[in-house]
Amino acid sequence: MENIKRTVRVLLPLPLADAYDYSVPEGLEVAAGHFVVVPLGKRLTIGVVWGEGSGEVAPEKLRDIEEVMPALPMADALRRFVDWVSAYTLAPPGAVLRMAMSVPSALEAPKTEIVYRAAATSDDAALKLTNARRRVLEQLKDGPALPAAELAHIAGVGTSVIKTMASIGLLEPVERTMRRSFAHPDGQRQGPELSPEQAIAAQGLVDKVLAHAFSATLLDGVPGSGKTEVYFEAIAAALASGRQVLVLLPEIALTAQWLKRFEDRFGAMPASWHSGLTSLERRETWRAIAEGRVGVVVGARSALFLPFANLGLIVVDEEHDGSFKQDDGVSYNARDMAVVRARLVSAPVVLASATPSLESVVNVSTGRYGSVHLPDRHGGRELATLSAIDLRRQQPARGRWLSPPVVEAMKRTFEAKEQTLLFLNRRGYAPMTLCRACGHGIECPQCSAWLVEHRFRRTLVCHHCGHAEPPARECKYCGTPDQFVACGPGVERLAEEALELFPEARLELFTSDSLMNRTEATAAVERMIAGEIDILIGTQMAAKGHHFPNLTLVAVVDADLGLNGGDLRAAERTFQLLYQVAGRAGREDRPGRALVQTHAPEHPVMQALVSGDRDRFVAAELADRRAAGMPPFGRLASLIISGPDPAAVDNVCSALARRAPHQDGVTILGPSTAPLALLRGRHRRRFLLKTSRDIAVQPLLRAWLERIGLPGSVRLQIDVDPYSF
Ligand code: ADP
Ligand code: ZN
Repeated sequence: MENIKRTVRVLLPLPLADAYDYSVPEGLEVAAGHFVVVPLGKRLTIGVVWGEGSGEVAPEKLRDIEEVMPALPMADALRRFVDWVSAYTLAPPGAVLRMAMSVPSALEAPKTEIVYRAAATSDDAALKLTNARRRVLEQLKDGPALPAAELAHIAGVGTSVIKTMASIGLLEPVERTMRRSFAHPDGQRQGPELSPEQAIAAQGLVDKVLAHAFSATLLDGVPGSGKTEVYFEAIAAALASGRQVLVLLPEIALTAQWLKRFEDRFGAMPASWHSGLTSLERRETWRAIAEGRVGVVVGARSALFLPFANLGLIVVDEEHDGSFKQDDGVSYNARDMAVVRARLVSAPVVLASATPSLESVVNVSTGRYGSVHLPDRHGGRELATLSAIDLRRQQPARGRWLSPPVVEAMKRTFEAKEQTLLFLNRRGYAPMTLCRACGHGIECPQCSAWLVEHRFRRTLVCHHCGHAEPPARECKYCGTPDQFVACGPGVERLAEEALELFPEARLELFTSDSLMNRTEATAAVERMIAGEIDILIGTQMAAKGHHFPNLTLVAVVDADLGLNGGDLRAAERTFQLLYQVAGRAGREDRPGRALVQTHAPEHPVMQALVSGDRDRFVAAELADRRAAGMPPFGRLASLIISGPDPAAVDNVCSALARRAPHQDGVTILGPSTAPLALLRGRHRRRFLLKTSRDIAVQPLLRAWLERIGLPGSVRLQIDVDPYSF
């Protein structure tokens, strides 16, 4: 009996099908959740103990765990979350684990340093002190122990003084763990006085927080109704009861403005978690969250996988936002997974939006989610009036994109010293460049997509793969020089037009490529708030999360842009985006106007925007989805098969087609060429699997894919609940 070693399953942060068994050497304390170093092939790697050994391999054939990392173990709820995300998305569990182990350095023992405090005996010796020594003790009297260099600096002495004092027993060295401390947002601080409707909504959320149980609530309210103010009350309640809070925002809405507002309300900054952190910041934040030293984390979607010690509330702001659904190796929707994470820690989740996703609307109507409503803007202000400009009647001048009513409105806005936002969701100068001589558009060599001219940077760029090339003089198809024409507008071209129309105006571009980084984006937002910009020209970056007090005119240059292409969510997404953009206008004491240029003013989306009747639009869109058996009434998964050799891709597709599941309530569409038939040199085909709501797609997919052989060059990407296709 004593010869049989204990074995455990260790999950490694690698795309392997399952956890591996390892044996536990005598004397090593190992429990589920421990981060352990294990051998894998010829190297060592860090994994997480996932449970007791499977027993599939005899213990004597297994390799030993090398050591246990000096980090807090991964909580049971987080491990179950990893398993859940893996089972739902069909991504290998290790690929999901990798997201929860994004900061390996945080698993090592924190560094220590020596700090000095006054020795107990130093008072007796006070009479014999030199001035220098007295100053040192003076500094330590009420303050914390300090490292030698720092202590010497603030006392105005040399470090040798500190060393000597320590050697003769006046100072006492202490070893201390180096760690960053995080200020604590104060849950007891009073917020602003809430209106009666806000107070009811806030109480609804606070009750959920105090229940310490899972619940999901949609916080639905027009822009400016005080949703943020209301969920701040829920955050305050969670903090006051000693719990941690996670706020998820779409990355680009994670602004300095939001942080400032939070700080004003709670007296301290939250910890933020996003792609712009340095590795040191990541490590310190990760550890502090695990140790329960951080009260509130505001982050992008990856923050879902942080090791909270004591999570008591999750808020997903702008819950409808498509950027919550992405593929970082694992394709998951952070909003939906936030609901799962909340359930696994028995905490409430609040989903906030002025334009909730249809999924959430249906979840409220079926009673799965609760809801609280804020029907009016705070302070009785009106929403911007929104008018459609029919481009078939009000044509812009030739080669121009702004219609006469828009130009006129801009003129009046400029004269009134107010600000205009021109919204066009297209980066660069022109979406397509054409050779007049042969009629060819310039394509990306690796993708089925046009290269987009970025005139300010003098390059042609593929927005799908990042390929960039300098503009050539000659056409690469026919060789004719100097015959290129730019087709259609991008924001740079619009800036050119606006500058011609308003040469005195201060104009700025606000897009992800004119703004190099977060700091510059913050600076641009500040210039806008300070009134140093008259006309802001932007893509979606400008549409989200900002609050510009002097902005009174929003013009949407091409409202039809997102409606073409036959995507499931085209109408929903366009409505949400334009409604949000229009919501930027007139937020302070001035009424706002939004002008929406369209070729299809009769389209239900435009009708809904103009009439402001969101609920009617939602009802009509839901009816269409229901009739088509599409989400949220049916389930969808997409399967993309790609590879450099189209014949190999087609072979896999044929094999898949032969084995496709046949079952009532299940429809297989495809194979067909995927949108972006060529991406990064890989040919792409697609199947769509559509099922009724009561059928789970995961077992179907698993059975379907089980015995499909893939040549090394062919890749298969599964996307459960694709956002767009
Ligand atoms: P939403 O998140 O719904 O867009 P916000 O919470 O940002 O709305 O509120 C819009 C504006 O109104 C903000 O400037 C906010 O500070 C202000 N506001 C909302 N509610 C109150 C309140 N009860 N007292 C004072 N200001 C408020
Ligand atoms: Zn490309």
